[in-house]
Amino acid sequence: MVNIAILGSTGSIGINTLEVIRKFPGKFRVIALSGNSNSALLERQAREFRPLFVCVGQAAGVRRLKASSFGKKVKIFTERAGLEAMVAEKKIDKVVIAISGSAALFPLLKAIECKKEIALANKESLVMAGSAIMAMARKNKVKIIPVDSEQSAIWQCLEGEDTVNLRNIYLTASGGPFRETGINKLKAISVRRVLRHPKWRMGRKISVDSATMMNKGLELLEAMFLFGVSSEKIKILIHPEAIVHSMVEFIDGVILAQLSATDMRIPIQYALSYPARLANYDAGSRVDFCRLEGLHFQKPDFMKFPCLKLAYLAASELGTLPAVLSAANEVSVNEFLRGGLKFISIYTVIERVIARHRNIGNPDLEDILHADSWARQEAHNIINKLKYT
Ligand code: NDP
Ligand code: MG
Repeated sequence: MVNIAILGSTGSIGINTLEVIRKFPGKFRVIALSGNSNSALLERQAREFRPLFVCVGQAAGVRRLKASSFGKKVKIFTERAGLEAMVAEKKIDKVVIAISGSAALFPLLKAIECKKEIALANKESLVMAGSAIMAMARKNKVKIIPVDSEQSAIWQCLEGEDTVNLRNIYLTASGGPFRETGINKLKAISVRRVLRHPKWRMGRKISVDSATMMNKGLELLEAMFLFGVSSEKIKILIHPEAIVHSMVEFIDGVILAQLSATDMRIPIQYALSYPARLANYDAGSRVDFCRLEGLHFQKPDFMKFPCLKLAYLAASELGTLPAVLSAANEVSVNEFLRGGLKFISIYTVIERVIARHRNIGNPDLEDILHADSWARQEAHNIINKLKYT
C-alpha cells in the first residue's frame, strides 16, 4: 500500500488522481489532501477518503474543516508553511504535486528534501527553478515521475535508454482551441471561448496557456530540465488527434512513440503505480485504431502563437529568463481571466518584461526568487500602462 499525499486535490489533476485511486483501493491510500480556496470540495474529499492530514489555504476553510464530523480525527494545516509542514509528515510515501502555478515550488522542494517520491504535474515550478529542483532530487536520490502527458510519454520512451543516443524529442501539441482560427480573429477573443479546449478538460490557467500555446513553451523547458536535453533537440509538433503523446528519436533513426487515449487519468495512474502497470478496464481509455481517421502532424505556426518564440528564447538563454517568462505569463493570464487584459496582450506583456530583464547565468534559488518577483512587478506595471493607452 502506497501512502499518497495530493497537493491541489481540488483541481482538475487532483480530482482525476482521486478517480484513479478510487479504482485501486488495495494499492493506494490517500493520507493527505490539500486545497486552496475550495474548502467545500476539500471537505467532501476528506469525508470520502479519510486522510490523516488536510491543508487548506484560508482561515475560513480551517473553521469549516474543524467543524465537520471528522474534524477531530484529522490534523489540519493551513497556508504555505502549513503545506510544507504537512508534506514533511513521516507517513507520506509519495506526493502528487497538482497545485497550479509557482505556488507549487516550495512544497515540491520540501517533499524532495524529505525524500518523498514525487509525481509531478505542476510545470511552472520546473520552468522557474528546474536546475535547482533536479540537483536537489539527485542529491536526495528522489525520483521525479512526470504526470504531464507529454513528459510521461518521453519518460516511458526513454526508459532504459542512454540519453547520449538521443537525436530528437518530438513534443506533440493538440494545437489548442485556436488551431484553425485565423490570426486576425484572435484579437477579440473572450475568456469563455479560450476556456473551451477541444481535447482536454483542465484548470483555467493551463487552458489559457494552451490557447496561447505557452503551455507547449513551458513543456519545452520542463522537458529540458526533466531529461537534461538542450532546446535544439526538442521539436514541437502539432498533432490534433492527441493520441501520440510524444516521441523520441535515437541516433540510429529509430523512433519510439507513446500512444494512448486522450485521458489524463492514464499518465496519472502510471505516475502512481510506476514502475508497475495496473490494468485499466475503462472502454474509453483504449485506442481503437480501426476507428481512427488518421494521425496528423504539422509544424507549429510561430507567427500566430508568438509565445512559442519567447519560450524558445528563454530555453536557449536559460539563467533567470525561464523564471521571468513563467512569472510574467502567470500574471498576464490571471489578468486576462479577470477581464483586465486582451487575449493578444498576454504576449505583449511577457515580451516587454523579457526585453527589460537583465539575465543572470547559473542562478541560485535566491536569484530565481528575486527575478520572479521582479517580473511580476514589471508585468503589473506594463498591464497598468496598457489599460490607460
Ligand atoms: P487547477 O486550477 O484545476 O487546480 C489547481 C489546484 O491548486 C487546486 O487544488 C487549487 O486549490 C490549488 N491551488 C491554487 N493556488 C494555490 C496556492 N496558492 N496554494 C496552494 N494551492 C493552490 O489546475 P490543474 O489541475 O489544471 O493544473 C495543476 C498543474 O498541473 C498545473 O501546473 C498544470 O500546468 C499542470 N497540468 C495540468 C494538466 C491538466 O490536464 N489539468 C495536464 C498537465 C499538467 P483551490 O481550487 O481549492 O483553490
Ligand atoms: Mg501537457
